[in-house]
Amino acid sequence: MNRDTVCVQGGYTPGNGEPRQVPIIQSTTFKYATSEDMGKLFDLEASGYFYSRLQNPTCDTVAAKICALEGGTAAMLTSSGQAASFYAIFNIASCGDHIVSSSTIYGGTYNLFAVTMKRMGIDFTFVAPDCTKEELDAAFRPNTKAVFGETVANPALTVLDFEKFASAAHSHGVPLIVDNTFATPVNCRPFEWGADIVTHSTTKYMDGHGAAVGGCIVDSGNFDWTRYPEKYPGLCTPDDSYHGVTYTERFGIGGAYITKATVQLMRDFGSVQSPQSAFILNLGLESLHVRMARHCENALAVAKALQADDRIAYVVYPGLEGDKYYESAKKYMPNGTTGVVSFALKGGRKAAETFMKNLKIAAIETHVADARTCCLHPASSTHRQMTEEELCAAGVPSDLVRFSCGLESADDLIADIKQALDSIKVG
Ligand SMILES: *Cc1c(COP(=O)(O)O)cnc(C)c1O
Repeated sequence: MNRDTVCVQGGYTPGNGEPRQVPIIQSTTFKYATSEDMGKLFDLEASGYFYSRLQNPTCDTVAAKICALEGGTAAMLTSSGQAASFYAIFNIASCGDHIVSSSTIYGGTYNLFAVTMKRMGIDFTFVAPDCTKEELDAAFRPNTKAVFGETVANPALTVLDFEKFASAAHSHGVPLIVDNTFATPVNCRPFEWGADIVTHSTTKYMDGHGAAVGGCIVDSGNFDWTRYPEKYPGLCTPDDSYHGVTYTERFGIGGAYITKATVQLMRDFGSVQSPQSAFILNLGLESLHVRMARHCENALAVAKALQADDRIAYVVYPGLEGDKYYESAKKYMPNGTTGVVSFALKGGRKAAETFMKNLKIAAIETHVADARTCCLHPASSTHRQMTEEELCAAGVPSDLVRFSCGLESADDLIADIKQALDSIKVG
């Protein structure tokens, strides 16, 4: 099936007389005839549902669609993108381990890694996305368990050099984990470029309507954990909390990672997506391919208009010719990148505040990747816990405005920007 068809129909094939739309199985629990039947599920000897903290049919159906879109072997939904990022790493790293991450990542992810997971004893080394191969190699330690980056970084809009990051990860015997939220599988499939695990905040383009917070993790099935059993004991040696099951043996290379994240991390942390949210997410996925094209078209028109305006200091958009990441974007995302454009006003932070206040169509929101255009000043909101130095390393200088182009008319968006820029002069 073509990707567009998977967006519409993937994951769910109703039988004769069954509902055409994915049913919302709003049930915490599932009934069995005997305790033995249920015991088999608990022992992972049979597959089936018993409690929605572990698995739910609606969530699994939607996860299967995202899995097919990414070209993976297994996937799971989580309650949020934050939960997806946390599980993706914690599934293969624990106290005493180390991760190499691109420095240009989402502010919430940076905080999760640099503060919260560091408190759990996991160390992170942040490398510039443009670092040399030597600098990247030098970031690895004997206890490094994974490499992390974002396809198109939120909000820095750097494009991940997949080949450089994947080859470094693999030459050190660890997987590359990629947050593909901003590109979505419509514009980029990281597995085709060497990524091993993909994460998403489905809250963004996948839902696309600002309706439901959610996340997803997809496994490519390409990383062979059994080559490094001493490095990934959680996957390659018996799990005492599951009657000694060894995930790689029982579920294979393609199933071990997601099964462990489900039966162990989801069981213990419980960051589940609700069936209702999964249903809403699926409605978004049905039009993802149509919406992404329009988001990108609008973003390019806005980026070009901003670039041509002499009140703008600089514009960052990987789809814009001349952008630092234009060539990478063409290589990894020939059909478009994302709907978010970043820019700075010549008047700096103060002008940015006046500008944003005077926008009429674009709303000030923490959100991005919505059908409705929104904008944000990261340095005073999502990234406000960072120092000036950290802001620059994250690709978010304090004068940067993040502008998320919705699905409105590009002409209206540009007119809104122009009138808000005019208001700075008057004021
Ligand atoms: C929003 C976002 C997250 C966090 O997702 P939530 O659903 O808000 O928890 C992670 N990564 C990226 C790139 C994001 O944009």
